[in-house]
Amino acid sequence: MDNQDFVKTVKIISKKYYTAERKTDPFEILIHGILSTRTKDTTTFPAQKRLLLAANTPEKIINLPIAKIEKLIYPVGFFHVKARLLKSACNVLIKKFDSKVPSTKKELMTIPGVGNKVASLVLEWGFNLPYIAVDTHVNRISQRLGVVPEGTKPEKTETIIEGILPPKLRIATNYSFVQFGREICRPVNPLCGKCPVYKYCGFKLKSKYKNNDKL
Ligand code: SF4
Repeated sequence: MDNQDFVKTVKIISKKYYTAERKTDPFEILIHGILSTRTKDTTTFPAQKRLLLAANTPEKIINLPIAKIEKLIYPVGFFHVKARLLKSACNVLIKKFDSKVPSTKKELMTIPGVGNKVASLVLEWGFNLPYIAVDTHVNRISQRLGVVPEGTKPEKTETIIEGILPPKLRIATNYSFVQFGREICRPVNPLCGKCPVYKYCGFKLKSKYKNNDKL
């Protein structure tokens, strides 16, 4: 796939999947990002909801005992570690950033539990800034489309696709690809026959999965 086709593809996918209803509260996105590492969305979202219902500010979270946070976020992966990270992250937010989530990558990456992907996610979803968080969906779909080679690491994918896409499309990429990746370009058994970007896609098995939904 060449760069122009990738731009067309992202336009088609984001037109269908980028909605105004998406969550945009930076604190909520930060919590989601910390919880989501090595954890499926279907586990992360309920855990995030339970935690934020119990405590929706940095002050309230640091006042919760670790055991209570662990109970609220279980069964996310590494829940013991993440409970401590959440407390440390909230501590840093209070002490260094006046309880507000900062809006630069450099500042975000000083917060415990926040690496490059989570920082990009907060900037992209929470602040509408032109970053692309390359999670498992974005990386898989970029490889299948053929805009990056198979086996490319997320950081490299991020550099390549950020270099191709104009800022306005970058803001929509993670959210749109995540929805598209859950619904159509699924990790296993993608529904290629229903795919709106089939003609652009370079996935070598796409014809095999063309009638997948009828199997
Ligand atoms: S054709 Fe198949 S593999 Fe390619 S983007 Fe669409 S669903 Fe994914």
